Amino acid sequence: MQEKLAEIRAQALDSAKQAATVQELTNAKVRFLGKKGELTQLLRSMGQLPPEERPVFGKLVNEVRDELEEAWAERERELFRLEEERRLAGEALDWTLPGRKPLRGTLHPITQVINEAKAIFTGMGYEVVEGPEVEWDYYNFEALNIPPDHPARDMQDTFFFSEQLLLRSQTSSVQIRTMEHRKPPVRIIAPGKVYRADADVTHSPMFHQIEGLVVDEGITFADLKGTLQLFIERMFGPEAKARFRPSYFPFTEPSAEVDISCIICGGTGCRVCKDTGWLEILGCGMVDPRVLKIVNYDPDVVSGFAFGMGVERIAMLRYGINDIRLLFENDVRFLKQFAR
Ligand SMILES: [Zn+2]
Repeated sequence: MQEKLAEIRAQALDSAKQAATVQELTNAKVRFLGKKGELTQLLRSMGQLPPEERPVFGKLVNEVRDELEEAWAERERELFRLEEERRLAGEALDWTLPGRKPLRGTLHPITQVINEAKAIFTGMGYEVVEGPEVEWDYYNFEALNIPPDHPARDMQDTFFFSEQLLLRSQTSSVQIRTMEHRKPPVRIIAPGKVYRADADVTHSPMFHQIEGLVVDEGITFADLKGTLQLFIERMFGPEAKARFRPSYFPFTEPSAEVDISCIICGGTGCRVCKDTGWLEILGCGMVDPRVLKIVNYDPDVVSGFAFGMGVERIAMLRYGINDIRLLFENDVRFLKQFAR
């Protein structure tokens, strides 16, 4: 029987050493030390021994059991360590690899120009307001002194949804919406998208305008000139000059178009300014008394001026962009050049 015990002990130690995984080790442990394990069986058959030998043998079996438990526990720790080592080797990290830079977007040149214009005008005490892009004919035309049969409607090729509903063709619609709800003094700019059926290298069916409106007592054309001169200097640099030319808009009287001295050649003449030395930049004028009456302002008490400019035009001049379509293609290589 002692030989049998020695045999089981040797086999058990060997199977512990051979176990390649924790699972195999557990299986082997059950085979020898479990309820139906070989060592347990041996203990049960102890009754065959003479009574005086039983305590000695029982002690031996317990010693072997302790030894085996210890051997298994040690092998288990070793296997856990080996498995951890294998797992770490599979996940090896190269600490010397350079990191991946997150891609950072840049503000679109149109957004940059709008933000700058907002900063310039809010610095002069203006408030930024917005209006809807889908607009009633009334706000886009009629209230701006452009009745249905007015020839000035041909100046803007408008997208109509119905006879009364359209995509606004100018941000001037915001003038009426603002004056309808407020009493003077009014001092606002309204940046936003406008739409016209027009597309070539200098025209896009959707583009951006910034509208400005000031109404108060005693506002004169001199206020308009001073305001725009200051805006142009801030937007294009202190050397930029402004020139006012008489023009026509149905909702202002008198009206003017404003040129700036060519920012490419400085006024000596070049291809961009078509050798004139000047670049057209915006339209403006004193608010027509008829428009003031439409929104229930008294033209005998208050007066005002309004101006409107194309944002794409300003961006193209500032950045030397010669095709408006570049601004809408969203080619990252193009847009990246304007990163700040
Ligand atoms: Zn020029």
